[in-house]
Amino acid sequence: MKASAAGGSGPVAADLPPLRLGGRANSVRGVLAAGVTIASESGAEGNGADAAPVDALVVTDLANGRWLTGFSGSAMVVVITADDLLVITDGRYATQAPAELEAAGVEGRVTIADRGSKQQEAATAAVEGLGRLALEADNVSWSRYRRFAGEWFPDAELVPSTGVIERLRRTKSPEEVARMAAAAAIADDALAEALPRLAEGPTEAEVAAELDHLMRRLGASGSAFETIVAAGENSALPHARPGPRRIEPGDLVVIDFGAIVDGYRSDMTRTVCVGEPRPPGGKVYEVVRQAQQAGVEAVADGVSCADVDEVCRDIISEAGWGDAFMHSTGHGVGLDIHEAPSLASRSSEVLAAGEVVTVEPGVYLAGSGGVRIEDTVVVTGDGCRRLTCAPKTLVVA
Ligand code: ZN
Ligand code: ZN
Repeated sequence: MKASAAGGSGPVAADLPPLRLGGRANSVRGVLAAGVTIASESGAEGNGADAAPVDALVVTDLANGRWLTGFSGSAMVVVITADDLLVITDGRYATQAPAELEAAGVEGRVTIADRGSKQQEAATAAVEGLGRLALEADNVSWSRYRRFAGEWFPDAELVPSTGVIERLRRTKSPEEVARMAAAAAIADDALAEALPRLAEGPTEAEVAAELDHLMRRLGASGSAFETIVAAGENSALPHARPGPRRIEPGDLVVIDFGAIVDGYRSDMTRTVCVGEPRPPGGKVYEVVRQAQQAGVEAVADGVSCADVDEVCRDIISEAGWGDAFMHSTGHGVGLDIHEAPSLASRSSEVLAAGEVVTVEPGVYLAGSGGVRIEDTVVVTGDGCRRLTCAPKTLVVA
């Protein structure tokens, strides 16, 4: 447990190494010059054959914008060209946006303007004379596309790109990993403090609220996603919402949650039980625990995502519950809770050192209960390092 639990976000953030993002714009420029992946009509990511060099990228995804500039606001358009980086945002961020760029060592311009014509003028001017602009196809809405095409960039050829910044975001710097490790440690501590109370028979919603509160007290800026606490028959729903059901002895309880520290997220699932679980809970738990451990042990630089999925799936299938593991094995984590790569059977991606991914097999038996166990790990040259370290103990009280 942390010495001072009531410290707010200050102490945690103060202990972290500063994020220096100055080199990222040039990484993006390298991709723009070499060719961005064009989104296919079906919405699926292209196979690399459809790549085109572009003169600029218009960043509308907030996490991508934050990754590139350090600006953490809730509204922005970032235009990056070969020699310019322009952040367009509104008056709420007149002080914050330039300060965050400077703190991150990012060379760029900030234009503060209310929505509408002033923002449009700044964007139009930034791309004057340029021919081909990439939009983020997975982020731009239909109405926004019409505005970009008709008003903001009427003279340019607009190209639907996919994954340009997301691919760069996959590899985390040591400073980014430090934030995710801090978030994971907060979640570990929150769980340790919350678990003894399960024996008192709280509702799922009460446990979820307590975890959220504890993470805040321990220094998180928030929860990484809506905390899942699912007891008994509800644990058979992979993404159950916590509700009024009380936790009773013998229930499997799936707890899936994470913290945010300086924008970076952690993700962890533990399955626990007050007393001995009703059959076949204990056997299911042991199979999932073995599958999860084998999956974590399979993660390493150069290993394909599909292979990690297969390692987990084989163990669960051999036990006869293959059909009850109906989601993929894991996903990347970072500024977003779900990022590239996906650890799925159909993935063609290969893991690389510095990537942060989850390993989270599960078995869900409708009407009875489910088990999921999840860790967030950093890929290393010869394996991986776990960031989530809470014990994997089924019977907690
Ligand atoms: Zn999770
Ligand atoms: Zn997850």
